[in-house]
Amino acid sequence: MFSRVLIANRGEIALRIIRACRDLGIESVAVYSEADADAPYLKHADRSVCIGPAPASESYLNIPRIISAAEVTNADAIHPGYGFLAENAHFAEVCRDCRIEFIGPSPEAMGALGDKISCKKLARQAKVPTFPGSEDAIEEEAKAIEVAKKIGYPVIVKASAGGGGRGMRVAHNEAALRAGLKQARQEAQAAFGNGAVYIEKFLEKARHVEVQVIGDKHGNAIHLYERDCSTQRRHQKLIEEAPAPGVDPKKRDEVCKSAARLIKNAEYSGAATVEFLMDEKQNFYLLEVNTRVQVEHPVTEMITGVDIVKTGIRVAAGEPLPYRQRDIKIDGHAIECRINAENWEKGFTPSAGRIERFEPPGGPGVRMDTHVITGYRVPPTYDSMIAKLIVHAPDRKQCIARTSRALREFLIEPIHTTIGLHRELMQNPAFMEGGVDIHFLERLLKKNG
Ligand code: ADP
Repeated sequence: MFSRVLIANRGEIALRIIRACRDLGIESVAVYSEADADAPYLKHADRSVCIGPAPASESYLNIPRIISAAEVTNADAIHPGYGFLAENAHFAEVCRDCRIEFIGPSPEAMGALGDKISCKKLARQAKVPTFPGSEDAIEEEAKAIEVAKKIGYPVIVKASAGGGGRGMRVAHNEAALRAGLKQARQEAQAAFGNGAVYIEKFLEKARHVEVQVIGDKHGNAIHLYERDCSTQRRHQKLIEEAPAPGVDPKKRDEVCKSAARLIKNAEYSGAATVEFLMDEKQNFYLLEVNTRVQVEHPVTEMITGVDIVKTGIRVAAGEPLPYRQRDIKIDGHAIECRINAENWEKGFTPSAGRIERFEPPGGPGVRMDTHVITGYRVPPTYDSMIAKLIVHAPDRKQCIARTSRALREFLIEPIHTTIGLHRELMQNPAFMEGGVDIHFLERLLKKNG
């Protein structure tokens, strides 16, 4: 096992990893930018190192500075968390060259699954359901038009290196496809330095259902069942829950097993998420694979009892997975509400500043993952998520009731947060019914002006 892990991240996920290290008896090294110098979670790490000014490019995304911090503190591994360098195969390679273990997949597995075209190829080989579409990158317009004719409109043009919803265009006809192809290519080239695009069938009404998987370095891979993350705004998830409501047990079994097969075939070690869209008949189609721990991993931890962060560290250290597939059972239901420092009633504008009162909820079934305490100043520089409320109960109905109760208790002042929106959603008939689609939240916000 490692003796010291450096955490190349900030905020709640940095604290989550510090806690996992403590549970495992491993020392942790936190890094911070000047904007986070007063962050209260830093004191929970065994050491902390300033890595530069506030802009992420000069701190949390700066590979030489992070590697130096690891070398200076004698860390034998780096945990990237999510965001920042977590899906940067070059960073994983630099770690390997410096003989520092990257807690996550090998750069090869990350590259193979992180690139959407190559991922789709691996998925077809592993018999994971994918959208009909082009097999390879589309070079010529004529080819795109031919494929679109075959699969039928609407189609979506997507960047192979895509992320954060960039480099995507939906086309309902040939003219839109011609324009979309050009725009998506330019956008992808500018954003990712890789202009490769492909096309696939566009699904009008879908749910976002994803499978948590984890593999080790001995060829074992298991799934930890699925989550539904359909409540989104601009491709940003707001609520995640596990298991996905109303999914037929046979379909669940199929999709979960196919996700585990995909990472096994890719010789993947560490935690990953295989994301799917699900249509109204509960057919699944692969969206992409996230080669890291995700924001919403706690809902899976609550229903399976598996500590995903700890297990990820153990497999990175070379231990075999401590679970077999048959050990993994679903216990009850869990919901996560992302609490963002945003004014959701005014277009979700960011709301940074000092928190004068922070009163988190508690009681049975309530888990808070947050780095915030009273007096914490939310910096304007980074992601607006400041807390995750995770609630566990024997079934979905009780889970919604408990989440409502926790949200009533939850007080953050004076900044704006999404707590009020979550309170409304927990009483929304469509949400309560279960199985809302990925455009549900945007429709609701539009209706309410
Ligand atoms: P990114 O890596 O940019 O997040 P994804 O492949 O995950 O890209 O797609 C982002 C979002 O775009 C999905 O959550 C979904 O809303 C939409 N999307 C992508 N592919 C399709 C598709 N084939 N049909 C319908 N919607 C899609």
